[in-house]
Amino acid sequence: MLKGKTAIVTGSTSGIGFGIACSLAKEGVNIMLNGFADEATVTAAKAEIAALGVRVDYNGADVGKVEQINAMMDATLAAFSSIDIVVNNAGIQFVAPVEQFPLEKWDAVIATNMSSVFYTTRKALPLMREKGWGRIINISSAHGLVASPNKVAYVGAKHAVLGMTKVVALEAAGSGVTCNAICPGWVLTPLVQAQIDAIAQRDGLTNEEASAKLLSEKQPSKQFASPEDIGALAVFLCSDAARQITGASYTIDGGWTAV
Ligand code: NAD
Repeated sequence: MLKGKTAIVTGSTSGIGFGIACSLAKEGVNIMLNGFADEATVTAAKAEIAALGVRVDYNGADVGKVEQINAMMDATLAAFSSIDIVVNNAGIQFVAPVEQFPLEKWDAVIATNMSSVFYTTRKALPLMREKGWGRIINISSAHGLVASPNKVAYVGAKHAVLGMTKVVALEAAGSGVTCNAICPGWVLTPLVQAQIDAIAQRDGLTNEEASAKLLSEKQPSKQFASPEDIGALAVFLCSDAARQITGASYTIDGGWTAV
């Protein structure tokens, strides 16, 4: 039933976003890729999606900037004539205690991880309402439900995204448009590899030892989820069977938030 629909997946040149884009493309969804990446990465990502038999384009908008989001939405409409699915996935991390958290890092994390969700939603919602069908999926985090030290901006933004998800779900209830959130635990992507590298360097550990340490601190399964796991849930949330699921948040976290 998703064949021929169009999705914008923010932050889809890498990691979870690319996994979600591939999963949707396998269902026949045309894809607008987005993210910061060099030309070779973008070309390879586009080719991989196109090989799944759908149309694909790329827009390099900085999702923290409203004018650039507006331009990306317009470009998507021009290329594909509709915006049926928006996956707000782009995100960044910065780690420091509250007293030392640089103001410019606070602004960047809030803009990228939180304000971007408002910027895309305010533009997409009227289009979706008009068609009587739409899916907005916000990638929050286990850190949208529980906290860790030194992540004040990230944890604040990811909690806010869950609140925004519920507001949009209520405002759109009954219109055919749903808004839900996914809260992953550790998924092995470049964002998490950077944190593994930091542990390895700090504690003098190998990559495997640092990965095991990261997992054992939070994720009871002691295993990473994969971008494809997150993509499969996104496809389900877009399905007809999920039409009455709205304002919900789903964890894929190996038991992190069950503790
Ligand atoms: P990643 O670093 O692999 O990918 C992030 C993507 O966002 C990249 O494509 C990057 O270019 C893009 N991006 C960053 N800033 C941007 C901006 N201003 N404008 C446009 N694009 C921008 O990270 P990931 O691990 O795949 O994370 C994706 C999402 O999942 C993030 O929101 C992250 O917070 C969330 N998440 C990840 C994990 C995990 O374990 N990896 C866990 C929970 C939540």
